[in-house]
Amino acid sequence: MQVYYDHDADLEVIRRKTVAVLGFGSQGHAHAQNLKDAGVPVVVGLRPGSARWAAAEAAGLEVLEVAEAVRRAEVVMVLLPDEAQAGVYREAIAPNLKEGAALAFAHGFNIHFGQIRPRPDLDVWMVAPKGPGHLVRSEYAAGRGVPALVAVAQDASGSAFQTALAYAKAIGATRAGVIPTTFAEETETDLFGEQAVLCGGLTRLIAYGFETLVEAGYKPEIAYFEVLHEMKLIVDLLYESGLAGMRYSISNTAEYGDYTRGDAVLPPETKERMRAVLQEIRSGVFAREWILENQAGRPVLEARRRQWARHPIEAIGPKLRAMMPFLKARIAEEEVGRAS
Ligand code: NDP
Ligand code: MG
Ligand code: MG
Repeated sequence: MQVYYDHDADLEVIRRKTVAVLGFGSQGHAHAQNLKDAGVPVVVGLRPGSARWAAAEAAGLEVLEVAEAVRRAEVVMVLLPDEAQAGVYREAIAPNLKEGAALAFAHGFNIHFGQIRPRPDLDVWMVAPKGPGHLVRSEYAAGRGVPALVAVAQDASGSAFQTALAYAKAIGATRAGVIPTTFAEETETDLFGEQAVLCGGLTRLIAYGFETLVEAGYKPEIAYFEVLHEMKLIVDLLYESGLAGMRYSISNTAEYGDYTRGDAVLPPETKERMRAVLQEIRSGVFAREWILENQAGRPVLEARRRQWARHPIEAIGPKLRAMMPFLKARIAEEEVGRAS
């Protein structure tokens, strides 16, 4: 597999263009500031009254309403929440895109599932950093970068890939390495990862583990430490050195239990369930459901938030986390409890 680095990309390709970064959230604030530091002309597009308008200006960036930012740009990077993108595209982006401009994304959902259908004169590509926005910014500032995926969905100019690679270089990604992919592969694997493993799978594993211990009469505080708090220790080891590295660091007792009891909890037949989840992603069933859910005002999302907020593990969590001031929460406890 080809991996692209700094020497494969030409910064001048992107410095010759004005980039409009739409949104100043997790990804937006990082892309806009990295581009600016890389000498790329950049404007930030926000809706009027956005609470982030002042923050973007304080970072020395020019901020305009979305429509105006799009009119100024040769490259429009859409860093709005995925479920808001199609609406904003129809209202403010499409009518204002310059002839021959590039439309860029950090995730393929709206293009892959046909929610945004760009005009044929446009280049359409993706630079998707494999890390949260704060890391994309802090790594860049430290002279390093976060790896990214690059894909081209539409190549009207004949140079879409080189432009995308130049953009990836400007945000620091080619310092770490850029891997080529397609909109289909990025979108489907991203959704599968979060549904089956990272979010959907992991939260069930923690909740069932907690419930099993508490229902058997163990103290909820102890159960919390064993199945939730200690997760970070394990995940850090996995992140740094893979399954084998994690197993090397844990005790031999833990390693033996892992090999001999893991299959009882998650038997290989789990893969059949995972394949069914993947199939709903590939067929568009999940995408259709999520789009309709948003059109209906997100009733299921809100109901599930309220339901999970009542889980006993959420009652014990704040008490224990308060005992550990060294845990710096990114999100205020009040905000997390919003749905309760
Ligand atoms: P955020 O939710 O952090 O950012 C939202 C931004 O969009 C805010 O500036 C918000 O402004 C603005 N916004 C929201 N709705 C509208 C609207 N209707 N009109 C105009 N502006 C609006 O988004 P993320 O950075 O998390 O995600 C952006 C993209 O990056 C997505 O495609 C996502 O899949 C992708 N991505 C995200 C990653 C991450 O780390 N979060 C990682 C890799 C990819 P306001 O102040 O007005 O609310
Ligand atoms: Mg995702
Ligand atoms: Mg233990």
